[in-house]
Amino acid sequence: MRIASRFRGLLAGFAVLAASAGLAAAQDYPTRPITMIVPFAAGGPTDVIARIVSENMSKTLGQTIVIENVVGAGGTTGATRAMRAAPDGYTIIMGHMGTHAASVALYPNLAYKPDADFEPIGLVAGTPILILAKKDFPAKDLKEFVAYVKANADKLNLAHAGVGSVSFTTCLLLNSLLNVKPTSIPYQGTGPSMNALVAGQVDYMCDQIVNAVPQIKGGTIKAYAIGTAERNPSPPDVPTTKEAGLPEFQASAWNALFAPKGTPKPVLDKLSAALDKALNDEGVRKRLLDLGSDIPGPDRRGQAALASLVKSEIAKWSPIIKASGAAN
Ligand code: ASP
Repeated sequence: MRIASRFRGLLAGFAVLAASAGLAAAQDYPTRPITMIVPFAAGGPTDVIARIVSENMSKTLGQTIVIENVVGAGGTTGATRAMRAAPDGYTIIMGHMGTHAASVALYPNLAYKPDADFEPIGLVAGTPILILAKKDFPAKDLKEFVAYVKANADKLNLAHAGVGSVSFTTCLLLNSLLNVKPTSIPYQGTGPSMNALVAGQVDYMCDQIVNAVPQIKGGTIKAYAIGTAERNPSPPDVPTTKEAGLPEFQASAWNALFAPKGTPKPVLDKLSAALDKALNDEGVRKRLLDLGSDIPGPDRRGQAALASLVKSEIAKWSPIIKASGAAN
């Protein structure tokens, strides 16, 4: 009896000790490098955005942030890895509209629930989607593009970053509007698919603006339209889909940081604050804006705003995906 109560006392002592050690660890955080998983290949928009903000965040946090490209299954392989990582703030993920919204409808057996198995850190950038084609695609504007794709879909190759990715999902919307099914060529990110587009190995794709701007400026691809209500100041000559004659194609993506569920609140708060600081930094802002992305204002920043964005984006994209016939 006495031994049992002493044992209970000991256990309680351990629990207090463990809790205060956890708190101390959270207060000291970070004491070693942080891994930021990028669920796509290097050189694509998610990778570029991750590198821009992590550089600044690592200065604030006083630790290196190592980018790890964990590719596969439209970004869901990297997101699954992040979901299963220890929830200690040393593994976080640069997710996006695909990994944390569209994938829900595209993968009935998805290993994670974007809105339940992650702790939101904050929205990083909004990224309008553009309809892009190889340089010698035989159409001078979006109307001609639509007519050509409709007439020749069986001969055309569409590049994307895998089922579940932004490029897959947004071109799914485009193809269902045009009622076409071109040959679909998956890559491990839109970095490599952009290389294929520039080389003329594939015909068209839909992608986040960050990846498109350098190529549009260099004249290496064609950009037919941007899927937002307004033109973007970075490629100012690209018309909106409304101006160009396909107003139903409204598509804008985003990138955001998440941690595994159970990451302590003080750790999350440090990460959110470091992200916030990065998004206020002139150098970071310039780099993101020059690439056409939209930097969230104060009301769209932080953990709560990202939690509701994830829910509303799942609700928005799921019916679009189901209507396209692509959902399993
Ligand atoms: N933009 C890509 C996508 O289609 C992924 C990437 O960032 O490479 O989801």
